[in-house]
Amino acid sequence: MTPEQKAEIEAARAQSHQTRRATAPGMETHLYTAYPVLDHGFIRVIDYMGDDSAITQAARVSYGRGTKAVSNDEGLIRYLMRHWHSTPFEMCEIKLHVKLPVFVARQWIRHRTANVNEYSARYSILDREFYIPAADDLAAQSTVNNQGRGAALSGEEAARVLDWLRDDATRAYDHYEAMISQDGQQGLARELARMNLPANIYTQWYWKVDLHNLFHFLRLRADAHAQMEIRVYAEAICAVVKDWVPFAYAAFEDYRLGGVSLSARGVECLRRMLAGEEVTQESSGMSKGEWREFMGVING
Ligand SMILES: Cc1cc2nc3c(=O)[nH]c(=O)nc-3n(C[C@H](O)[C@H](O)[C@H](O)COP(=O)(O)OP(=O)(O)OC[C@H]3O[C@@H](n4cnc5c(N)ncnc54)[C@H](O)[C@@H]3O)c2cc1C
Repeated sequence: MTPEQKAEIEAARAQSHQTRRATAPGMETHLYTAYPVLDHGFIRVIDYMGDDSAITQAARVSYGRGTKAVSNDEGLIRYLMRHWHSTPFEMCEIKLHVKLPVFVARQWIRHRTANVNEYSARYSILDREFYIPAADDLAAQSTVNNQGRGAALSGEEAARVLDWLRDDATRAYDHYEAMISQDGQQGLARELARMNLPANIYTQWYWKVDLHNLFHFLRLRADAHAQMEIRVYAEAICAVVKDWVPFAYAAFEDYRLGGVSLSARGVECLRRMLAGEEVTQESSGMSKGEWREFMGVING
């Protein structure tokens, strides 16, 4: 972030406004602050609407703030989450400014139930900023999961990969700059020159989403199986949401993030196990992969 951008954020943080709207004290402390993610990325909250009470207020369709007692609110929110009564959670909204590598943005944008406005690389020139993984994060293709990584690459190979990532990004950006330059030439349009840039270049967007759909995003992307480069963004968002809507976040952590859903066959196997039967993959009726996942749930 440039000093000018930091100054802009500080100026925004220095201002405050009076309002009749519900504000969440925990969220007010996060407002505008940019939290670093990966080597050049960040998330920062631009705005939000609602708090835990907004959820219970909508669920009760009440005239006032809806709060009867704090413990009632907590219990109701847990009940709503447990029973997939999701629309009250849609009453809360969050607007984030996110800076992220393009290959992460491609996964993120698949979450269609959000409003997005991305930095225009037709209009503006992209910064010379590329995601270069830390050496520890360079891993080999997983042998058990086609969609994942396994052991860390060894020293020499890791060094070679890092060199290639840096060199290729630098060369591609040098050519991008040379193509758009109007110094002694016409200069290629930015909308065309950008096709030369690699997928680890950073982009930025404003991303607005309601709490229900945000939880759906976080459940998939803060999960241990999500790619690390998007998971770290999801985790940074989780830390903010926890302070924004503490009851809703606690219920989400309990029922969704930390909870599991079992198939009817899984429940049947569990009951047989609890009754003392020694159930095996063969006698479970599950495939090898499903059994492995089931045992992962049971054994933690
Ligand atoms: C581990 C993992 C691996 C993945 N691998 C791949 C992959 O290999 N290839 C790939 O293409 N994608 C992949 N995805 C993306 C995935 O298929 C979803 O597109 C992504 O997670 C967004 O989920 P969503 O559609 O539920 O979210 P959202 O788009 O936010 O939608 C939320 C919900 O709204 C409803 N909805 C929204 N739009 C529609 C619609 N047009 N029609 C019907 N219902 C709708 C659905 O109920 C949906 O669940 C992967 C995701 C994960 C987490």
